[in-house]
Amino acid sequence: QSLTDDVDPGAATMPLPQNDERRWSDTSAYARKKVLQSWVQLPNGNWELGKILSTSGDESVVSLPEGKVMKVISETLVPANPDILDGVDDLMQLSYLNEPSVLYNLNYRYNQDMIYTKAGPVLVAVNPFKEVPLYGNRYIEAYRKKSNESPHVYAIADTAIREMIRDEVNQSIIIRFSLSYSGESGAGKTETAKIAMQYLAALGGGSGIEYEILKTNPILEAFGNAKTLRNDNSSRFGKLIEIHFSESGKISGAQVQTFLLEKSRVVQCAEGERSYHIFYQLCAGASPALREKLNLTSAHEYKYLGQSNCYSINGVDDAERFHSVKEALDIVHVSKEDQESVFAMLAAVLWLGNVSFTVIDNENHVEPVADESLSTVAKLIGCNINDLKLSLSKRNMRVGKDTIVQKLTLPQAIDARDALAKSVYSCLFDWLVEQINKSLAVGKRRTGRSISILDIYGFESFEKNSFEQFCINYANERLQQHFNRHLFKLEQEEYIQDGIDWTRVDFEDNQDCLSLFEKKPLGLLSLLDEESTFPNGTDLTLANKLKQHLHSNSCFRGDREKLFTVVHYAGEVTYDTTGFLEKNRDLLHLDSIQLLSSCSCHLPQAFASSMLIQSEKPVVGPLYKAGGADSQRLSVATKFKGQLFQLMQRLGNTTPHFIRCIKPNNVQSPGLYEQGLVLQQLRCCGVLEVVRISRSGFPTRVSHQKFARRYGFLLVENIADKDPLSVSVAILHQFNILPEMYQVGYTKLFFRTGQIGVLEDTRNRTL
Ligand code: ADP
Ligand code: MG
Repeated sequence: QSLTDDVDPGAATMPLPQNDERRWSDTSAYARKKVLQSWVQLPNGNWELGKILSTSGDESVVSLPEGKVMKVISETLVPANPDILDGVDDLMQLSYLNEPSVLYNLNYRYNQDMIYTKAGPVLVAVNPFKEVPLYGNRYIEAYRKKSNESPHVYAIADTAIREMIRDEVNQSIIIRFSLSYSGESGAGKTETAKIAMQYLAALGGGSGIEYEILKTNPILEAFGNAKTLRNDNSSRFGKLIEIHFSESGKISGAQVQTFLLEKSRVVQCAEGERSYHIFYQLCAGASPALREKLNLTSAHEYKYLGQSNCYSINGVDDAERFHSVKEALDIVHVSKEDQESVFAMLAAVLWLGNVSFTVIDNENHVEPVADESLSTVAKLIGCNINDLKLSLSKRNMRVGKDTIVQKLTLPQAIDARDALAKSVYSCLFDWLVEQINKSLAVGKRRTGRSISILDIYGFESFEKNSFEQFCINYANERLQQHFNRHLFKLEQEEYIQDGIDWTRVDFEDNQDCLSLFEKKPLGLLSLLDEESTFPNGTDLTLANKLKQHLHSNSCFRGDREKLFTVVHYAGEVTYDTTGFLEKNRDLLHLDSIQLLSSCSCHLPQAFASSMLIQSEKPVVGPLYKAGGADSQRLSVATKFKGQLFQLMQRLGNTTPHFIRCIKPNNVQSPGLYEQGLVLQQLRCCGVLEVVRISRSGFPTRVSHQKFARRYGFLLVENIADKDPLSVSVAILHQFNILPEMYQVGYTKLFFRTGQIGVLEDTRNRTL
């Protein structure tokens, strides 16, 4: 297998089609002889442009920049493109499509602040880590008028709007990052999503609702983003925003769905990172009156915020941000009273972290110290201080028909306290999303169409991978399949179905890996849920069970002790089952839920009922006893799987537009382009594959009817009584579209890229 004719040492790790006849480029032996410029791989792995001085036997002598001369095995040389192709807009235009050429092209553009490049149907965005002069009204206007045609998020958003109106089909813009080795990407997904929203708001605006939609960003970022080591504004949740349009193409409302908020950050975060922005904003920006009401002190006084030794972000004024968030909350119609309740919940979480415990008997049982923290929490959530004390020191267990009371030891009590803090915060987050959705659901009559923007974490592979990575990677496996199927499979199937001449191209499908996760009863998710219902199940019994049932699956490998490995699309990931069961059960003891429902404030009450609501609905999937009492809840994995299916269903009904964000370095530094890092990302996401396939195919497809209807009026000859196919063929002839540029199928016309443009231009001029 090879990328170019037969030379490319980097090919081994690249997901490649099985078909040997497929070639990456039109490199012919003849062309190669004339190539004087070649890519030479240096010992450090980087590629450099070299001139071939001479060739004898298997070896060539090449000269490199700065006067270096090197002897290399000729086979390892990779053809470089002529200078005239430097920095092309679309990788499809490269004569030699190989890894070093793609890397070079992206780099060439990046150096000139051209951070966007097309890879066939996919937009590649390389994070500039600095302000680039590519945005704002002037640019929006240029893309709207199509006077600027260089690749851009705006262009993608523009196409989405046009196709939504033209085809009457919902659209989606799917923004992803290929593979993260560090936990948070910082590749630019969230910024890209905002840029797309900006364009949609500018073009579909008018009713005022677009401001509300844009204001969801500062709110969700305040509550769901945090400073991490690699991104000062890292989103700790996934997000889908569906923007609704009326028939006339104006924005009429929107709906937000969020995925997997990282709850653990509320109670612990690593050195140098921060908890969610809103905590620091509140501490810095609250008015004296609010401070007094919430008994608020400085961020430094709170243990949850103090453990990571990081309170501020360079160049960010938390107090100022707090005011912007309040304004944004006003705009999405969260009342002042509700806002105050929200801040009270935040303060309650912070004070909860300061609750300490003292040993009360010789069996090491503890109870909370009755100090300012405890009384403030009780006051803020509106509960009896004794009830709070009890819920943090005892647990009611049901054994048969009896209820026994178990006293808690210090680690158990800390767990109970932190679990309560995490639940309050995540319920608060969900509640806010709900309020936002109520406010944005203005155009209730959903007659029109929508454009959804998905900003979701990419594949993750860390030194230690836990339940969170397991869920995230499962989601990415599904999204990858959506991407693959859309771009490769559907395309080919359509060619074949329509009877056109198309040399079959195989592509990597990841159905096997998805089956490993989803198969019932012997798949990762089912087995995980089953083990979670066993009272005696432990992380080790889970690992053993997985190994026992899945050892023969080619995407699975059991490792020592609690480890297992999954062969994902993007590569192998080894998971550690430590904490899997607990995280999957996500138990909040019934005592805590009861405590919240007994509160006099409405938010805690709402939280309590939202936590229990799942037990009242008929549900599919295993249920868990919450804290050994009667209430039941869905497992986290099952709930996530449900969300994911819903998401895929929604995306399945849209025309997707894909944007791949690329992180050029790991240090958030402008101008630094690390070849190895970029290459790794390109390889993992199948972008090069897409280019290869698209280039060799006919990506533009139009039904005969539609084609005839759209361009028929341009015909000189009389077509009154002709069928759509004849009309279409007549159009093709009249406009001299070259035969190799299109194919006529049973139901559709298939075009190579760029062919429809002439027709559209003529049509627009004529209309
Ligand atoms: P992700 O959501 O993929 O983790 P972000 O969208 O938060 O990444 O981007 C991380 C940082 O990179 C941003 O805070 C910003 O500083 C920078 N960045 C990303 N995209 C752009 C852009 N188009 N222009 C300027 N800076 C950007
Ligand atoms: Mg993000």
